[in-house]
Amino acid sequence: MSDSLYIIEKMKQKRWIDKLEQTGNLEREAWISLFSEYDEEDQAYAAQKARAIAGYFFGNQIYIRGLIEFTSYCRNNCYYCGLRRDNEKAERYRLTAQEILSCCERGYTLGFRTFVLQGGEDLWYTDDRMEALIRQIKKKYPDCALTLSVGEREEASYRRWYEAGADRYLLRHETGEEAHYAVLHPQEMSLARRKDCLRQLRGIGYQTGCGFMVGSPGQSAETLAEDMAWIKELGPHMIGIGPFIPHKDTPLGKAAQGNYRLTLFLLSLLRIMEKQVLLPATTALGTIHPEGREAGILAGANVVMPNLSPVSVRKKYAIYDGKKHTGEEAAEGIENLRRRLKRIGYEIVSKRGDWEER
Ligand code: SAH
Ligand code: SF4
Repeated sequence: MSDSLYIIEKMKQKRWIDKLEQTGNLEREAWISLFSEYDEEDQAYAAQKARAIAGYFFGNQIYIRGLIEFTSYCRNNCYYCGLRRDNEKAERYRLTAQEILSCCERGYTLGFRTFVLQGGEDLWYTDDRMEALIRQIKKKYPDCALTLSVGEREEASYRRWYEAGADRYLLRHETGEEAHYAVLHPQEMSLARRKDCLRQLRGIGYQTGCGFMVGSPGQSAETLAEDMAWIKELGPHMIGIGPFIPHKDTPLGKAAQGNYRLTLFLLSLLRIMEKQVLLPATTALGTIHPEGREAGILAGANVVMPNLSPVSVRKKYAIYDGKKHTGEEAAEGIENLRRRLKRIGYEIVSKRGDWEER
């Protein structure tokens, strides 16, 4: 390639990033071009814009969410996840309502004003039980937001729980492309159903989060372009992304781990595209790199989700190998995390941190 052609090629990526900033969207071909060839300079260019946008909307404030992993039972068989029902080695547990309330109590004292109830798709938690749990938590902590992340359920159930006081719902779409969805999930699961759930949740009034794993087996520039298109269509309030990390007792246990740099680049692009979105630097990102969380924030994230689950069950909630369970990702490590984020110029705040039109 001649020098001038090389320079034009290189400028192309930055021009896509500029266009994304100005219009909040890119055509499929542009996304594919961007994901197919980018370099460190492009990443730094995107990160700098993303940080400026996050700074404009959130200042130097970082919202915290207390994650309560309340059940490790799951009726699904996602090929990537250690909690899948066919993994006989998985240790199963369920927290009682009392144990969950104790987690909230500890979290409240530590300054958390959002609790996230996350678990496998566990039908022991019937609509009634979920509703009772939600009411108990909201009654005791009326000033806190409650987020649910319990997978695909009926619209009527989502509605009941919303009416009982749940505020937000996280349901990653995992990939925006049908064929890729089938690489990651057995036939009984479908992207169409997933998308329906997300539309229902949004329609009911939940602050709704979608998202995907970065570097999941079969992911490509084309499938990522579909992710971006779906996110644009849904208009989520939150987006959760983190690297795919293999779990040895799953069908995808020998696949390669997701790329750290690409995860950071995607965080930046998501911030530039969906400017006010709530964007966590996830535990998975902190798992594959000791400074993953800080790097995520410097790439445009504005949320962290420390673990509030009882220490005794943390190891059992093994969705991927090497998941941390004793350090700064844990709620007890909040002071440490506070110091680390302060070092890079950010401050953890004790607020609900709702999505709002800013
Ligand atoms: N059962 C619920 C919530 C728990 S799983 C659900 O599936 O929505 C939460 C998220 O963990 C999933 O959406 C998936 O994106 C992520 N996850 C599962 N296995 C993973 C792995 N091996 N590596 C990285 N993330 C994983
Ligand atoms: Fe179950 Fe969620 Fe894991 Fe799928 S990703 S197996 S639904 S816990």
